[in-house]
Amino acid sequence: MSTPNPAGLTIRARLAQASAGLGSCRSRLANFVLPPVCLSCHKPLIGYDTLCATCWRNVEFIRPPVCDRLGTPLAHDIGVITISAAATADPPVYDRARAVAHFTGTARALIHALKYADRHDGRRLLGRWLSTAGAEILDDAHLLVPVPLHRLRLFTRRFNQAAILAQELARQRQMAWDPAVLIRVKRTAQQVGLTRDQRMRNVAAAFRVPERALARVETRNIVLVDDVITTGATVNACARALKSAGAARVDVLAIALATGDHVGERIS
Ligand SMILES: [Zn+2]
Repeated sequence: MSTPNPAGLTIRARLAQASAGLGSCRSRLANFVLPPVCLSCHKPLIGYDTLCATCWRNVEFIRPPVCDRLGTPLAHDIGVITISAAATADPPVYDRARAVAHFTGTARALIHALKYADRHDGRRLLGRWLSTAGAEILDDAHLLVPVPLHRLRLFTRRFNQAAILAQELARQRQMAWDPAVLIRVKRTAQQVGLTRDQRMRNVAAAFRVPERALARVETRNIVLVDDVITTGATVNACARALKSAGAARVDVLAIALATGDHVGERIS
């Protein structure tokens, strides 16, 4: 809060000046120690947390119009909320999904770097992308929940990439996130190379809301956060568990949507 005391303002102004001076020192030091590079190809850049022009062009962003349930692109914008034929024929358990980009090019490279190369420096850019792509489902959401890993997988990988994304998005949007309201109780086989039916059987009953977390889920609008949506089997299984526990709405937000050729890739 501002204060009318002129002396106070002077002190605040001096503190602000000192802080700005320290900030610019810190920034010069950071530039010297870790000069900014493109998050994907590592080409030198003038700013942090971004991509070079070539890598930007290789992000296939998903833009409206999209199917309101699956988040898949639609050919024509008819100006109203539209549900695709695929969603009508086989409605998902979750309410709405949104993804930043197709699982190809730079988006795929950034996800692979996050998951398999311990490169977490892309999280601020990925968080900004999630915030934009998910604006309409985030506006009245109460809680962000990352798709959980089984504890043994967590032990070998040491981190959950979905939790890194959810935490960063929560920080940027000043929202609540909770990695403990949904747990993976069944250690499922890798989803890679499985058909859609096999994936659904693989993850059925794999997720549960623990008794102690029920109060945080009941009547809440939840946004599940994951890195890639493939067939939707995993997020559907998560949504089923959250809805069984009383969630009012479960939406899904991911960096990428894998369709066609990329569904069978190593993405679980
Ligand atoms: Zn680049």
